[in-house]
Amino acid sequence: MAEELDRLGIFGGTFNPIHMGHLVVAEEVRERFSLDRILFVPSYLPPHKSVDVAPARDRLAMVRLAIKGNPFFGLSDLEVRRGTKSYTVDTLKDLADKVKARLYFLIGSEAFLHLHTWREPPELFKYADFVVMERAGREVTLEELEDYLAEFHGRFSQVEFYYHGKVEDVQIFSVQGEGFESRLYLTPVVNIGISSTGIRKRLRKGMSIKYRVPDEVETFISERGLYR
Ligand code: ATP
Repeated sequence: MAEELDRLGIFGGTFNPIHMGHLVVAEEVRERFSLDRILFVPSYLPPHKSVDVAPARDRLAMVRLAIKGNPFFGLSDLEVRRGTKSYTVDTLKDLADKVKARLYFLIGSEAFLHLHTWREPPELFKYADFVVMERAGREVTLEELEDYLAEFHGRFSQVEFYYHGKVEDVQIFSVQGEGFESRLYLTPVVNIGISSTGIRKRLRKGMSIKYRVPDEVETFISERGLYR
């Protein structure tokens, strides 16, 4: 991959399945942060979740169907191709080596609060700026985020966080580590209370998922008999 982009969003996730919540927040962040592109990176075998996960090739196919109408969205099979458990730090490092772009890692607020359990937490900030999206129903206040970052520093003294203030609803921190400085943003996004868990539950109960996922994803799920 020899891309020459200036600002590249990286949206990692299980996408089990991809849903309208993912798409609408990605588009919102792309616009707000003037990103040239957003790359969706489905994980192979998610390190933290393993039950009820559709095959990687099906999750990739669903993301491909979901994003095809958006020229700013792309799909990477980097983690799936690796064929082993995926760690975000490896993915970000790989992408940082391959693409000439500043990387922005998109993550929901609830997921961010578990960052200390990921592999090599301080290293994550070395390769990308973090865009923490205030997910519907799981928003974090500035104080909660500051507490978490202080706790994070307590565990991993190699990184320190400094609050810079707020610009147009986006809270900005700088992240200083050994030999690097990056940014962490806390941003509101449209309140869409859709989750993959909720979609899988609805399917198991035989309920409709129309308008929660793109039409073609709905058809794909029904044709492949996923999540029954
Ligand atoms: P699950 O319900 O199985 O945990 P999910 O809906 O959270 O799945 P993931 O693929 O795990 O989907 O999410 C990828 C990323 O997208 C995570 O950082 C998550 O926080 C974020 N995300 C998912 N849904 C939303 C939403 N509705 N609004 C904002 N962020 C979201």
